[in-house]
Amino acid sequence: MRLRLDAGDITQLYVDAIVNAAKKSLLGGGGVDGAIHRAAGPELLEECKTLGGCETGEAKITKGYDLPAKHVIHTVGPVWHGGDENEAELLASCYMNSLQLAEQQGLRSIAFPCISTGVYGYPKQQAAAIAVSVCKMFTSNAQSLKEIIFSCYDDESLAIYRQLLTDS
Ligand code: ADP
Repeated sequence: MRLRLDAGDITQLYVDAIVNAAKKSLLGGGGVDGAIHRAAGPELLEECKTLGGCETGEAKITKGYDLPAKHVIHTVGPVWHGGDENEAELLASCYMNSLQLAEQQGLRSIAFPCISTGVYGYPKQQAAAIAVSVCKMFTSNAQSLKEIIFSCYDDESLAIYRQLLTDS
């Protein structure tokens, strides 16, 4: 099992699943969500409409359609309210539930964006520490998964993840 960084656009990755930082409705939005829907094409929205939304911290899977990725795992990150509203547990659940779903489907590779750190306002360093610790913990139970990629779209996130992966 390998953990690695990618500095580019998550929609360009050839992996078994990319994770979408979605909204509860699963009907599309801005940021990475918008980029994924644009790259996947309109059939992704059609499948999302059948899923009945998604609660914060949970995850649902669809096909990848026009993406190079075979699947999209949609998870809903918490909105940052200062840290006293269960944000850390909910963010950890996003990573854990996405990884479990990937394992249930027998997937070999998965790429995560920096969930909640855009419009949802989660501090980047704290969010990255949760992402890396949950994924590291998971590596000991992993069966099918061989590679987890952290897609860092901005330089600040890239530097934070680089440090975390070097230190641990
Ligand atoms: P949230 O609502 O969960 O905060 P956003 O989409 O606003 O979601 O931001 C989450 C993260 O995704 C941010 O760090 C943002 O820089 C990053 N991001 C935006 N577009 C892309 C992309 N195409 N590939 C990878 N990461 C992206």
